[in-house]
Amino acid sequence: MSLAHLEFIMKIEISELHGGVQYPLDFQVYSKDLVDENQELNGQISDEGLHVTGHLSLLNRHEVMADLQITGTMIFECARCLQPTPYQCNYTYRESSEINPSAKDFDVIPCVEECLYINEPFRVLCKPDCKGLCPGCGVNLNFEECRCNDSDHSDDDNGIDPRMEALKKLL
Ligand SMILES: [Zn+2]
Ligand SMILES: [Zn+2]
Repeated sequence: MSLAHLEFIMKIEISELHGGVQYPLDFQVYSKDLVDENQELNGQISDEGLHVTGHLSLLNRHEVMADLQITGTMIFECARCLQPTPYQCNYTYRESSEINPSAKDFDVIPCVEECLYINEPFRVLCKPDCKGLCPGCGVNLNFEECRCNDSDHSDDDNGIDPRMEALKKLL
């Protein structure tokens, strides 16, 4: 599908909405399509994109009702270990939006963004028992042992660069 075509189906000519029609929506939205003007969205849309279906209808001369279903996978950081974690979305959205009086088109993307924002999960975990990152040494405790107590001899060694330590052994 060409970009121009995508552009067209995400921006609906307002003249198409007159006469009480329910204008059907069915398109795929990708990360690059989002504007996120206020930088409030967490997470990324997965490479396959999100599938948006539903319809638009004119409520009155100034407002459009957007009825959307959004399904697909988003990627959030795990709240504990920060690993990219897929999250299955199945969102519905039904909100009216004002029509910009000077615009010829109605842009669906702000509705999509609002839907993603209001449905954003509070916290995503890569697995329910994610062990997170060690606050001391920063290792991902799901995959590695904590290194905080690696130099288990005297206190004097604290903070010594391991490379220096290796050098010291050579001397
Ligand atoms: Zn995790
Ligand atoms: Zn540690």
